[in-house]
Amino acid sequence: KASAVVPDVTLNDGHKMPALGLGTWLGYNAQGVRERPKASEVQEAVTWALDAGYRHIDTAYIYRVEDQVGRALTDKFKNSNLTRQDIFVTTKLWNDFHGEDQVIPALQESLRNLNLDYVDLYLIHWPVGQYANGTFDARDFVDTWRGMEAAQRAGLTRSIGLSNFNRDQIDRILAVAEIKPAALQVEHKKWASSAGQIPTFTEYAREVAAFAVSFLSVRESLGGLFTPSTLPLIRLTSIRYPIRSQEAINLNLQQPDLVAYCKQKGIVVVGYTPFGSLFYSRAREDAPPPRADDPQLVAIAGKYGKTVPQLALRYLVEIGVVPIPKSVAKERIEQNIDVFDFQLTEEERQVLKSFDRNYRVLPQLKWKDHPYYPF
Ligand code: NDP
Repeated sequence: KASAVVPDVTLNDGHKMPALGLGTWLGYNAQGVRERPKASEVQEAVTWALDAGYRHIDTAYIYRVEDQVGRALTDKFKNSNLTRQDIFVTTKLWNDFHGEDQVIPALQESLRNLNLDYVDLYLIHWPVGQYANGTFDARDFVDTWRGMEAAQRAGLTRSIGLSNFNRDQIDRILAVAEIKPAALQVEHKKWASSAGQIPTFTEYAREVAAFAVSFLSVRESLGGLFTPSTLPLIRLTSIRYPIRSQEAINLNLQQPDLVAYCKQKGIVVVGYTPFGSLFYSRAREDAPPPRADDPQLVAIAGKYGKTVPQLALRYLVEIGVVPIPKSVAKERIEQNIDVFDFQLTEEERQVLKSFDRNYRVLPQLKWKDHPYYPF
């Protein structure tokens, strides 16, 4: 089968991310226990995925498979036309490295596992900090973000972002983060607060300041008008937008408000667990429909010669979410990327929309008493 071509989405720092990626978390087994990776199953999956046209791989330190991802990539770089620049690799900072000065060493360890010089994207995996023994570390994730910025400045990652942060937590990051003027984008934004109401004075002032910074940085790139006196102004006023946020998005948990909010803020939303409870083997007893044999979905999928899982992925792509389906089966890896040659009608999208129940597959209740528990 010819390999698929996946379009890119452009992040607000100019880097491009393929609009669908391969997930590499092996998940929990039927007893709710984290699966131990087998020696090469993820390596094989990544290899098949690259052959099928995937150029975006999502992994994390805690998945304990970075080494397998690394071996698959190293082998392809050696034995095919693929180069490092062709691939978008994401990995994530685990909860017990939330200290500002722990971020770079943690990323360096991931890079060693991956056998890469840099990743394309580094995410804070959860806002929730923990110590290695599992007890809560209530350190502020804003400090962690400063470490993330340092990692980017050190060239260890092209872009940085967040995972499992709620809207207020994203706002706290937006309020304090820095950005180099050269990377600032002159963008048109609505003169309205994130809630869609009249902006507060602070929001208004921030918008004006951000615009001034954009203006100055454009002037600078045009004529070198960047003087020591403008530097503190730029430092004080500039805002860094995390360029990607990862959240569960699937038919039962569509999160339209979060998706709209991120769009407004220029944040690309990556949807993890994109199949939700579609498969009987993975659905909890209390999980709302649909399953993959839902007659309405089977009929829509059939019309396009596709499967219901493909339909679910296509829907996410069409609502502007980047899905990262996981599979370690060659046939399903090939199937999941094959969603860029059809388009749903508005009516069909409404059918898929109707399954939204705000139902979470992975609520991670073990952290529910943590001060930064996000859900
Ligand atoms: P998914 O929604 O991707 O579902 C994966 C399951 O679906 C596996 O059991 C897989 O089995 C099965 N499957 C895949 N494709 C098909 C298909 N076409 N037909 C039938 N069954 C299929 O769940 P995940 O939770 O793994 O989420 C995807 C990725 O998102 C993760 O792997 C990880 O990279 C990321 N993630 C990030 C999180 C975060 O906190 N940031 C949290 C959770 C996930 P099989 O392998 O046998 O095909």
